[in-house]
Amino acid sequence: MKINYHIHTVFSDGSSSITDYCKTAIQRGFEEIAFTDHLTVFPDGSTETHSLNTLKIEDYVREVKAASGKYRDRVTIRLGVEVDYIPGNEEIVERILKNYDFDLVIGSVHFVDSICIDSSRQRALVEKMVRENGFDSLYSKYLRLVGMAVETGFFDIVGHMDLVKIWGFTPADGFEDEQKALELIKERKLCLEVSSRGLRQPVSSIYPSPRILKRACELGIPITIGTDAHSIGEIDYAYNVLIEYIRTIGYEHITTFSKRRPLEKKVE
Ligand SMILES: [Zn+2]
Ligand SMILES: [Zn+2]
Repeated sequence: MKINYHIHTVFSDGSSSITDYCKTAIQRGFEEIAFTDHLTVFPDGSTETHSLNTLKIEDYVREVKAASGKYRDRVTIRLGVEVDYIPGNEEIVERILKNYDFDLVIGSVHFVDSICIDSSRQRALVEKMVRENGFDSLYSKYLRLVGMAVETGFFDIVGHMDLVKIWGFTPADGFEDEQKALELIKERKLCLEVSSRGLRQPVSSIYPSPRILKRACELGIPITIGTDAHSIGEIDYAYNVLIEYIRTIGYEHITTFSKRRPLEKKVE
């Protein structure tokens, strides 16, 4: 079962088309992939420039569905979206999500206090926050936002749960914050994403950390896997490393989604 549940196309900040991803997925032996372009809506209703917006989303949904039909015999294509959780954007997000029959919705936190923590243009601001208040304070803030995202009930999957360590930070403590977020994820029956994206970023490690993933496994929280691909070259980025990682932690199943319903698949 080779799957990738986190892929960005030219509809948001990716550089490859839906068709090129489908062809590459078939060539590289994927059984199932999910397109998850960004939907980044701010509380005032404006969208991030690279994000899907009310116009682009129509074409995106139509194109993913067309590809899903066209390649049906060779690869399963799911319609997903990666939605930013930003306090105050709940009503708008809820309204948009209701209009489309997504197979899966990833909820991700990229913004803390209006700073996009994974943008290289804002890295200096993140580093300033860490210098002034220490990384644990930012880590705690980030995980609280993850918990708030979970509580909206909008999402199936928590994207890159500890992305905040991106620039190479490690929490000195942070266990309790992780624990609180994980308990909410369990209570709300969400899935945790295991992502190889961090391996190509300064932190050089998989999201989430072994400590988080071990605890998630003990709690019986299901997982999906993705590479957070932004081009076809990243479609199976460190894929074997990811599989080895989840196996070592103790996971034997990966969860896939159809029309927001989870389906468990055995890791092979
Ligand atoms: Zn993301
Ligand atoms: Zn992403």
